[in-house]
Amino acid sequence: MPEAWTTYLGERAAAQRDGGRWRARRTHHPRGPLRDFAGNDYLGLARDPRLAEAQAEGARRDGAGAGASHLVSGHLAVHEALEQRLAALTGRPAALLFSTGYMANLGTLQALCDGETRLFQDRLNHASLLDGGRLSGARSRRFHHNDLGDLERLLARTPAEGRRLVVSDGVFSMDGDVADIAGLAETCARHDAWLMVDDAHGLGVLGEHGDGCAGRAVGPERVPVLVGTLGKALGSAGAFVAGSQALIDHLIQFARPYVYTTAQPPGVAAATLEALRLLEAEPERRTHLAERVTRFRAEAARLGLALSPSTTPIQPLVLGDSERVMRWAERLRERGILVGAIREPTVPRGEARLRITLSAAHADEDLEALLEALSALYAEEVSA
Ligand SMILES: *Cc1c(COP(=O)(O)O)cnc(C)c1O
Repeated sequence: MPEAWTTYLGERAAAQRDGGRWRARRTHHPRGPLRDFAGNDYLGLARDPRLAEAQAEGARRDGAGAGASHLVSGHLAVHEALEQRLAALTGRPAALLFSTGYMANLGTLQALCDGETRLFQDRLNHASLLDGGRLSGARSRRFHHNDLGDLERLLARTPAEGRRLVVSDGVFSMDGDVADIAGLAETCARHDAWLMVDDAHGLGVLGEHGDGCAGRAVGPERVPVLVGTLGKALGSAGAFVAGSQALIDHLIQFARPYVYTTAQPPGVAAATLEALRLLEAEPERRTHLAERVTRFRAEAARLGLALSPSTTPIQPLVLGDSERVMRWAERLRERGILVGAIREPTVPRGEARLRITLSAAHADEDLEALLEALSALYAEEVSA
């Protein structure tokens, strides 16, 4: 290896290790003994055999892969059907399927923004939105988290003419709190700005129909650009943008991460269609999940655990420094519990946390085991 590269890789790795930020993967066994409170499979659909069957059937019918990008010959009837279902679910005229949420956000921001666009992002927005903003070359500002006053101040300081886009997560992925969609929409209307909401963690969970926090009840007039992902509550993979036909046509022309990539495997689209059928046919999954969240919070409060204020299945326990978070996560693992250990740069320094996620797939014993393990660790630490 040329020395410049050896040195570069070595130095970067050392800095990462020394800063306590080293990331390592561990092979996860979905049917293994660990109780999984780390994933985003909120409705327990990812391992539902009906999705697997739909996926296999889709693959047998159309092939394991789509074979080409959407604009060449990869756009299949199953993709078309899925886009229509997603548009109907969210109450939008049209929807466009992307292979991942990361690509949907990069593609949308890059297609909508250029050097003339003023872009305003919540400072806790998902990395894909922040990266998309950078890629787009827009003139970007970040407003304080969920702070309409700060957004208002930034909007008031920019010239009234020209295109302005405000972007927010619907449910914040590391905090679990929900954006004030009505407030954002109202602020945008007053300043003639467009609003884009990425509801990756709200879709399937929130809303009367599982249509998320900016779905049918909100509508395209207030949230003209809506992003949803299919790999979380819907248990499959991929993402979509929903909005006016003009928006979708624009993305088909200009969103490079849409144009220059192979369409998602048809079996995956078929599995998502099955997930959408179950979302409607089995609403008890959502009510059961909501009850779980309420019960977990009540019991955690009784144990003295200071959970972040969140009403969604994302229930963070902020512990402060990275080392403490890694220690807690390891001790929980020893007790058969898997939770997310989230450190900087994913969250700000000093706000490292356990990201505990609840799912309709959990049994009562799972929740009890989690609470017992957390309470034991907490007691150990208090007495130490
Ligand atoms: C997970 C996530 C994404 C990325 O979606 P993928 O389909 O996993 O690439 C985008 N936005 C938010 C808010 C997310 O939580």
